[in-house]
Amino acid sequence: MSGTTQDDYTDRYSRRVRGMTTSEIRALFSVASRPEVVSLAGGSPYIAALPLDAVGEMLGRLASDHGATSLQYGIGQGTVELRERICEVMSLSGIEGASPDDVVVTVGGQQALDLIARVFLDPGDVVLAEGPTYVGALGVFQAAQAQVRHVAMDAEGLIPAALSQALADCGGRAKFLYTIPTYQNPAGVTLSEARREEVLDICSRHGLLVVEDDPYGMLSFEGDAPRPLRARRREGVFYLSTFSKTFAPGLRVGWVLAPHAVREKLVMASEASILCPSAFAQGAVTQYLSTMPWREQIKVYREVYRERRDALLSALDDLMPGGTTWTNPAGGLFVWATLPEGLDSKAMMPRAIAARVAYVPGTGFYADGTGTTNMRLNFSFSAPDRLREGVRRLAGVMEQELAMRAVFGAVAEPRRRRGSAAADAPGPDLA
Ligand code: PMP
Repeated sequence: MSGTTQDDYTDRYSRRVRGMTTSEIRALFSVASRPEVVSLAGGSPYIAALPLDAVGEMLGRLASDHGATSLQYGIGQGTVELRERICEVMSLSGIEGASPDDVVVTVGGQQALDLIARVFLDPGDVVLAEGPTYVGALGVFQAAQAQVRHVAMDAEGLIPAALSQALADCGGRAKFLYTIPTYQNPAGVTLSEARREEVLDICSRHGLLVVEDDPYGMLSFEGDAPRPLRARRREGVFYLSTFSKTFAPGLRVGWVLAPHAVREKLVMASEASILCPSAFAQGAVTQYLSTMPWREQIKVYREVYRERRDALLSALDDLMPGGTTWTNPAGGLFVWATLPEGLDSKAMMPRAIAARVAYVPGTGFYADGTGTTNMRLNFSFSAPDRLREGVRRLAGVMEQELAMRAVFGAVAEPRRRRGSAAADAPGPDLA
């Protein structure tokens, strides 16, 4: 690298990126990937559960037998074959009768979010989102210079009265509600059946669009998940999902199911940024869905994650200091913990890393600097005994902090900036 520093360019940055900052927390995440650290910070699926040899053979054949198309450019909307398969996948979740014509294939769910932002958001626009919410969505909304207003959740997900209040507070100006109703990232809670109708009714009454992000709906541990919002209402609801958690995130294939009128705008926005999604990755997913037992594989993921969730929950039960609480997810990858009075998850992070355990501080999941008493714990990636060891280390750090506070009062904290979710977010490998 040359000797230039970031400062040489600050005057030239677009207004869009000027607000993007990095934080000391990010540096800690690079340490978190060392083998001696038990990372409860990531969001990575357990890829070793895939039949990797069979997937490898399939990928080889995709190049050798179908290279003329799989290694060529494709169309911006994504291949018809994959869009048809995606409609079959959605029908399993209860979204019946979706047309492949209304599906846009994207580079992971992340690009789906980016396209929605490009099509709908102007600087200063208001987006309503659960508090806490997916850090990658906050990054997209921040890049679009939108303002995020959080809507509170409880054990049954988004609170309808809080949604009505948030709408009233912004004078009905919100562009859309961004929601992860099922096995929410990071909170691990699920919007109850009754509330699904209520939330949809509130949105219809106020003409508020709904952006439903559903990467985890198929990863249920206790019966099937409630049907998505899009299965209940098609007008005004955008449905986003991905193969990252049901197959493999390395392929970067996701999609949006959009009301027909908007689909073309999404395709044009996508073409402007990537021309077309990877033909090879789309071919891989299409082959996987046509020739391999993908439904069985989802069951395997569910089994592995259920066992790991149980291991994490029982370790928390056994080891966490009194006053700590946490959610009890019925699916997905994450538990959301609330620390005892006086502890600050962001300030504690360096000491946790020194004790060889990592988590994501709650501030990463809010646009407004709240979340200091929370942390997100991932259970999909580490084996049960590692999860327990991670909790043991974490509990040790918390006990020490509590003891210090009892003796000395609040320990001097590092200078506290107003939190920036994107700045405090782990890198993409950990999101
Ligand atoms: N939405 C949510 C709620 C997520 O948790 C994630 C991944 N962590 C994504 C979207 C994006 O995933 P991907 O781009 O890998 O499909």
